Amino acid sequence: MTDAIEKCKITKKCGGCQFQGMAYQEQLKRKQKQEEKLLGRFCKVNPIIGMDQPYYYRNKVHAVFDRDRKGNIISGTYREGTHQVVAVEDCLIEDEKSQEIIRTIRGMLKSFKMKTYDEDTGYGLLRHVLVRRGFTTGEIMVVLVLGSPILPSKNNFVKALRKEHPEITTVVLNVNDKKTSMVLGEKEKTIYGPGYIRDVLCGCTFRISPKSFYQVNPVQTEVLYQTAIRFADLSGKETVIDAYCGIGTIGLIAAKHAKKVIGVELNQDAVRDARMNAKENSITNVRIYQGDAGRFMVEMAEEKQKADVVFMDPPRAGSDERFLSSVVRLAPKKVVYVSCNPQTLARDLKYLVKQGYEVRKIQPVDMFPFCDHCETVCFLTRKYK
Ligand code: SAH
Repeated sequence: MTDAIEKCKITKKCGGCQFQGMAYQEQLKRKQKQEEKLLGRFCKVNPIIGMDQPYYYRNKVHAVFDRDRKGNIISGTYREGTHQVVAVEDCLIEDEKSQEIIRTIRGMLKSFKMKTYDEDTGYGLLRHVLVRRGFTTGEIMVVLVLGSPILPSKNNFVKALRKEHPEITTVVLNVNDKKTSMVLGEKEKTIYGPGYIRDVLCGCTFRISPKSFYQVNPVQTEVLYQTAIRFADLSGKETVIDAYCGIGTIGLIAAKHAKKVIGVELNQDAVRDARMNAKENSITNVRIYQGDAGRFMVEMAEEKQKADVVFMDPPRAGSDERFLSSVVRLAPKKVVYVSCNPQTLARDLKYLVKQGYEVRKIQPVDMFPFCDHCETVCFLTRKYK
């Protein structure tokens, strides 16, 4: 494992990495300690699984566009907690190819007479650029987020961009005309390619739309999912729920080891991706439902449906009582909780333990080198009933 300390010049201003300048082994030690502090009272915490190469791991790169005081076009990130743009030239954790594409776009704006968007006045056009790359397939998606719906000479723009980067497989316009800190707006128009990219994880192919959630560190995502599926120890006879399923990743990978998989997800684009992903991988024992995971589980419990295993992978805020109480009512033998926030995980585990579950395994996986976030897979079994 590497222990070289590469130095980022804008760490303080950017605020994205809390552990810049710290040896990677030391970062892992800190995360392990934090996990033990928060989760150690439930069960022994396995040693965190780190990366061999903890640099340039992010497959999704976002840049906000602006002008500096001298009027030069800059692209980068918001200074933490503000809307001030910090120029980013070379980020140590973002995919290098995607960063190159962002630099190319920045260089093209002048000749295309494209103005950067001014958040205060609403004047100008280009707000953000989002690049996503499938690390396995090499497919690249560029999303241009505009303040208004028209990109003049769009065909020439795509042509010029693809001349520099022929690896780009799709270009999407997204319109965000609101005063908001959300990057993507509602409206979307594909101006080149299929409007999504594909990537491969654990032997399944996944299509990813601009607004669908997809883990940002694909190398560690495979480790994460393999751990989750190993913990569930499926025999092929189980009915499995994949709650907060996104584009269906965990459920589709688990499907070949189970009788039936039911996925539930709130975001409509992700649901569409998940259904297509089932089809494209010729997986026929999976059904995906759109809606709130908690409400869905309540309905399942009321209809006295059965589930043997529940995979749950909620956002940072964790799950809610509606969901957790219906897990208890459904009473699956096994629960595999994948969490990106040990604080809310600890809160939710406390509830489940009180209601008759036992925490059997805890495995931290480092999905976010140089950042203080920590991902955890947690395995629970039902004690009685
Ligand atoms: N398991 C997936 C996605 C995890 S991210 C993966 O590994 O890729 C969490 C997902 O929960 C996101 O796709 C988000 O859209 C979804 N989500 C957020 N709140 C939800 C809710 N109340 N009900 C169902 N899904 C929800």
